[in-house]
Amino acid sequence: MLVDDSGEVAAEVDFRKGHKRKTLVVGAVAATVKVVCQNCMAPANIDINATVRLLIVGSDDELAALAENDDGMVCVEEQVLLVDLLEDELILSMPMVGRHLDGLCTPSPALLAAQMAAEKQTAAETAKAVTNKDTYKAFAGLGALTAGMFDKKDS
Ligand SMILES: [Zn+2]
Repeated sequence: MLVDDSGEVAAEVDFRKGHKRKTLVVGAVAATVKVVCQNCMAPANIDINATVRLLIVGSDDELAALAENDDGMVCVEEQVLLVDLLEDELILSMPMVGRHLDGLCTPSPALLAAQMAAEKQTAAETAKAVTNKDTYKAFAGLGALTAGMFDKKDS
């Protein structure tokens, strides 16, 4: 998904006491990652912003018991793995298809080659359509010709 590991991540996280004395993690994380643009196939830097608001719970049961608009995270160990948490949030915020912002695409050699190939194919198909007509006529004539030849051979 990512072109390489380069990029920057900035995060601001606050731990608070949420309701029922659960730990509430509130924060924002911003990252710049490099992906392959699905328009032009060139590397593109995209910004991801994610907000974090998670209640830390001790079990799956507690997680299931959370209110519908509360996001939770099961954490059975003493320490919350903050990096994992932030990484998860970032991954969730990644666009499904990475691409440059409008107008920022650079025509890459690969794209140009693909376009040229597509044009060539269209041209070839047009040529083929024309050839098919001619071929049909040519075969009609050939059929009559060969029929005569076989007749001669057989008799
Ligand atoms: Zn692009």
